[in-house]
Amino acid sequence: MTRSAEWKMISMLPHPYQRFLKMRRTASNLPARAKPVLATSLLSPILALTLLSSAWAVPLPEADKALQIFFVDVEGGQATLFVTPAKQSLLIDTGWPGNDGRDADRIVAAAKKAGISKIDFVVITHFHNDHVGGLPQLVARIPVGTVIDHGDNREGTDAPTVHGWQAYQELLAAKKFKRLTVKPGDSLPIHGIETTVISADGAVIAHPLPGAGQENASCKNAEQYQPDQTENLRSLGTLVTFGKLRILDLGDLTRDKEMELVCPNNKLVPIDIYIVSHHGWYQSGSPAFLNAIAPRVAIMDNGAKKGGTPAAWDIIEKSPRLENLWQLHFSEEGGAAHNVAPEFIANPEGPDAGNYLELTAWPDGRFEVFNSRTSNTKKYPPH
Ligand SMILES: [Zn+2]
Repeated sequence: MTRSAEWKMISMLPHPYQRFLKMRRTASNLPARAKPVLATSLLSPILALTLLSSAWAVPLPEADKALQIFFVDVEGGQATLFVTPAKQSLLIDTGWPGNDGRDADRIVAAAKKAGISKIDFVVITHFHNDHVGGLPQLVARIPVGTVIDHGDNREGTDAPTVHGWQAYQELLAAKKFKRLTVKPGDSLPIHGIETTVISADGAVIAHPLPGAGQENASCKNAEQYQPDQTENLRSLGTLVTFGKLRILDLGDLTRDKEMELVCPNNKLVPIDIYIVSHHGWYQSGSPAFLNAIAPRVAIMDNGAKKGGTPAAWDIIEKSPRLENLWQLHFSEEGGAAHNVAPEFIANPEGPDAGNYLELTAWPDGRFEVFNSRTSNTKKYPPH
């Protein structure tokens, strides 16, 4: 068999065989004279046909079908890393600046665990320091392909926000990555997961998502919220669909914008995994919104002293379908009454260890959450 025919044959096989045979094939890249013998012995036509005829019946290994999501502890900022089965990656936000690159180091450590050496897409939900601040340190440590944003910074009065925006402009001018600006209804260019932009630059999707649009009973006596005046309400929010699973991240989108999404009719759909908006701070996470998305599992990227407000925590805990709330940190403000049980907390009280949570999901709707502090995993069956 010629070399190109052999590669073609390998490429027709399912991934586990490809990986094995390509590894063997690369290992056989010995001196030229040795090649013909090795090449034919490696993949004889009979062996190849046998593999081809039997391969389709062999399911892919579990790990090759899973979506991984790392909830990196950036102390009350956001850094959520999605890695698809084909190893494409999407990082939502980059944590804080400073601290000798602490947050960027933690993101790179998560990327390493996932087996990737480049981040294909970074979503910057908005230009606050706890979301865009870590970007310069990140690109100094790992290549980044494209950064996706909601458009230009709109909060010119807050010095840290202006600084974060300027640093972003400098990285763009230095061609450290490409820039893509999106609007509600768009999808992101990543493969292996479906994405829908729900909110961006103060606008939300104009029409209900497929299957949505029902009246939301909890809007009737809902509190009216003042429009937010900061970058928060401009958050680029994304719905990720992976097989039967729906995962929602709205950055720090505030309650006034939530009401546009879910009242009087709910434009959103029930969510399996809710990345808690705004680190669980009271300015986001209204009852009408939580009732509308009714998550099975919520994961809150709070810090010890940021987010995890008791009022917001209560609303999540009382939402209709909730099985578990997970927290990156014990919330000092929450105290004994407004924190989940220790096994659902990555970083309890005491010296910070930067423990992370890792969610692994399969297209059939199964998922599990791993707490890196306890090394325990909790499994969730398909709904
Ligand atoms: Zn934030």
